[in-house]
Amino acid sequence: MTTSPLRLGISRCLLGDEVRFDGGHKRDHFLTDVLGPYVEWVPVCPEVEAGLGTPREAMRLVGNPHRPRLMTITSKHDHTEAMEAMVDGRLDSLRTLDLSGYVFKRGSPSCGVERVRVYTVQGMPSHSGVGIFAKAFIEQFPLIPVEEEGRLSDPSLRENFIERVFCYRRFQDLVQNGVTRQALIRFHTIHKYLLLAHSQEHYETMGRLVGQVERYRLKELTSKYGEHFMKALTMKATVRKHVNVLQHIVGYFKSRLTTEEKAELLGVIADYHRGLTPLIVPLTLVKHYVQILDVGYIRDQVYLNPHPKELMLRNHA
Ligand code: SF4
Repeated sequence: MTTSPLRLGISRCLLGDEVRFDGGHKRDHFLTDVLGPYVEWVPVCPEVEAGLGTPREAMRLVGNPHRPRLMTITSKHDHTEAMEAMVDGRLDSLRTLDLSGYVFKRGSPSCGVERVRVYTVQGMPSHSGVGIFAKAFIEQFPLIPVEEEGRLSDPSLRENFIERVFCYRRFQDLVQNGVTRQALIRFHTIHKYLLLAHSQEHYETMGRLVGQVERYRLKELTSKYGEHFMKALTMKATVRKHVNVLQHIVGYFKSRLTTEEKAELLGVIADYHRGLTPLIVPLTLVKHYVQILDVGYIRDQVYLNPHPKELMLRNHA
């Protein structure tokens, strides 16, 4: 896990603040009540901070989908400049806060991350785009994990986002603690099985990179590593990949199990493979043996505990 506080940006209306155009909010129970105790939220309402007030006329994106305008729907007032004037200063202030992730409100012309409707000047929906503030944030901080609250109701997307947030925090700690070649190698080592659950290809590429520690300047190497690391974690962790990882881990200690213990463990993994149990079931048994048999190399693997168990993210994966 990580010892530093997890600080996440969030669209302010998701915390229950009444900042929406209609004076309402979109409080999200999972974010406020379940994830809330583990993070420090940094609430941002780009439209309020751009001086547009609450309540305000509803807006939408209009024109060129790559560079749309932010327009009110009825009076056709263009608020793009007010929004752009706010964005740079706000991103600068967010940079000082060392964010480890950001949860944006879906569908908003300011905050939506994907599939935000862009309209023609005549008022017809024409393309999908990205909210103006969200787009600027992602361009400015490409490694920081972002997600929309709507997608977090999907258990696998939720688990993936929170895993990426904790991983990114660990990477930030690595950099901020003054990364050494040894520390980078150790970081790669303890993330081995987590990375393999996402992408063997990325893991191997990163392994080659770490193997060339003498060739690159450390800062350049760490930066390249960080890009690969965060990219790898966006690759989908499938049941088949988890089964491969579990079987690899079991390989470290199966010779020390009795025939019955081995059969039970492999049976539980097979049940997970067939969709009869969630990941938490074989994982709990594997962790039990890693603990009692004191399997050092595996005990340190982030894969076993990537986020707080109280979030129960692997109970549905
Ligand atoms: S979606 Fe973004 S701009 Fe709209 S109310 Fe929420 S925080 Fe404000």
